Amino acid sequence: MAGEKMLKFTTVSRDMPEKRPPDLRNKDFGEIYAEYATAKAAEQASRCSQCGVPYCQSHCPLHNNIPDWLRLTAEGRLQEAYEVSQATNTFPEICGRICPQDRLCEGNCVIEQSGHGTVTIGSVEKYITDTAFEEGWVKPIRPHAERSESVGIIGAGPGGLAAADMLRRQGVQVTVYDRYDRGGGLLTYGIPGFKLEKDVVMKRMAQLEDGGVEFRLNCNVGEDITFDAIRGKHDAVLIATGVYKTRELDNPGSEADGIVRAIDYLTASNKVSFGDTVPEFDSGELNASGKKVVVIGGGDTAMDCVRTAIRQGATSVKCLYRRDKQNMPGSQREVQNAEEEGVEFVWLSAPKMFVDDATQMNVDTPAPISGPLRGVVVDKMRLGQPDATGRQSPELIAGAHYVEEADLVVKALGFEPEDLPALWGVEGLEVTRWGTVKADFTTGKTSLDGVFAAGDIVRGASLVVWAIRDGRDCATAILDYLSQSDAVAAE
Ligand SMILES: Cc1cc2nc3c(=O)[nH]c(=O)nc-3n(C[C@H](O)[C@H](O)[C@H](O)COP(=O)(O)OP(=O)(O)OC[C@H]3O[C@@H](n4cnc5c(N)ncnc54)[C@H](O)[C@@H]3O)c2cc1C
Ligand code: SF4
Repeated sequence: MAGEKMLKFTTVSRDMPEKRPPDLRNKDFGEIYAEYATAKAAEQASRCSQCGVPYCQSHCPLHNNIPDWLRLTAEGRLQEAYEVSQATNTFPEICGRICPQDRLCEGNCVIEQSGHGTVTIGSVEKYITDTAFEEGWVKPIRPHAERSESVGIIGAGPGGLAAADMLRRQGVQVTVYDRYDRGGGLLTYGIPGFKLEKDVVMKRMAQLEDGGVEFRLNCNVGEDITFDAIRGKHDAVLIATGVYKTRELDNPGSEADGIVRAIDYLTASNKVSFGDTVPEFDSGELNASGKKVVVIGGGDTAMDCVRTAIRQGATSVKCLYRRDKQNMPGSQREVQNAEEEGVEFVWLSAPKMFVDDATQMNVDTPAPISGPLRGVVVDKMRLGQPDATGRQSPELIAGAHYVEEADLVVKALGFEPEDLPALWGVEGLEVTRWGTVKADFTTGKTSLDGVFAAGDIVRGASLVVWAIRDGRDCATAILDYLSQSDAVAAE
């Protein structure tokens, strides 16, 4: 049975085909990635040399027991591989799809290091859990015994959901509050469906609901319910709200219509993929169809925007980044994907101002925009001396600018935390100088008794796998806290 399954394996392979299909519109994840060279799980898994110094494992934030589940997969023992895989990862099928493996497990595979191409660890991880779902090996959440304590979790992203899963399995009563209409956080409304199919996320939501986790969606903490009210209702609280304040541009013209935030653009696109009516998409405001699109930024969010614009049928898609390819923060694999799909990268470029028909002839004298957006005046840059972080700083090349035509500009410059103490009117919740919640890195304990924090709101914009790790660590710490509180109450 397991052997037959392995032969059917198709997934994202690191062996890129020479060309992608030219028109990616309306294609879903399966259609796109089925076009890649087919990798067989067992074939890939058997490439693992079982080297004995598993750098892959130590560079996985969850310390997944990769060599063991690769060996079990190679031997056709898929159900056992699944058991080992799920023991350390709450959502292996999600990490297998969207972890930047080239920077984590696969980038540190000794076979990769020796120049023979990594074992495609993420693909195998995805395959094992997808198969487990198909075969019914994924067990529903059924605690052995119910506990009376309750935990309130603010934020239904991967951090909050990983904690909810672990706490519920121990019988704790869990309520998750989220301001969105669906759970999943950025898994649902940030990361595009061509990287992470939405039914994969919804399947986990259904599993949690079926297991007794209560979701209070469309509930904006600070508006619909106070933080203090949540604290009063539960024995412990986990803050897992992510980071959503967009870094803005202040160049002349940057308030013009046609310049939008990446999170709004991606959320609209994801809502449309659920079949929701999104007026800003229908009106064209958040729709790249038929437009010349410029995305500003060099991180993974920018890559998601350019690839989404290609799929929406933009006439051209350019990505402006102020450093060069070697120094961009995003995954090189994502850049390669985007380039193959027709995105043009304009390296060493920064926006100077935005122009309409009236202003674009006079780029040296910034003026307010009144007509439709026509383009971005781009300053050319060069790399200068390294800064404190060791990265070369971009420097302006005086007088070297030109107009890049655009009808839609997407700002993808990164995210910062919202000011939670002010938004929630909560005293005593300490934050760092970056605005992230100050929390112990192993337990997630904050400055408030019984309040823990996990994921991006502690780390700053990070990765799904780190949010899962934090959520799991916090769940363990919360269980300890509840037990200690019970012991004190019993004295
Ligand atoms: C466009 C984009 C693409 C990305 N792609 C990848 C990728 O490919 N791979 C990867 O590993 N990482 C990726 N990331 C990063 C990853 O998504 C995050 O690191 C991860 O989702 C953080 O998880 P979290 O649980 O901390 O927060 P989130 O996923 O942000 O979830 C936080 C939740 O809290 C809710 N919330 C916030 N404030 C309130 C409030 N006041 N009341 C109620 N609810 C609230 C939000 O609605 C949200 O649902 C991407 C990020 C973005 C923006
Ligand atoms: S969780 Fe991410 S880093 Fe860890 S093994 Fe899976 S894909 Fe690699």
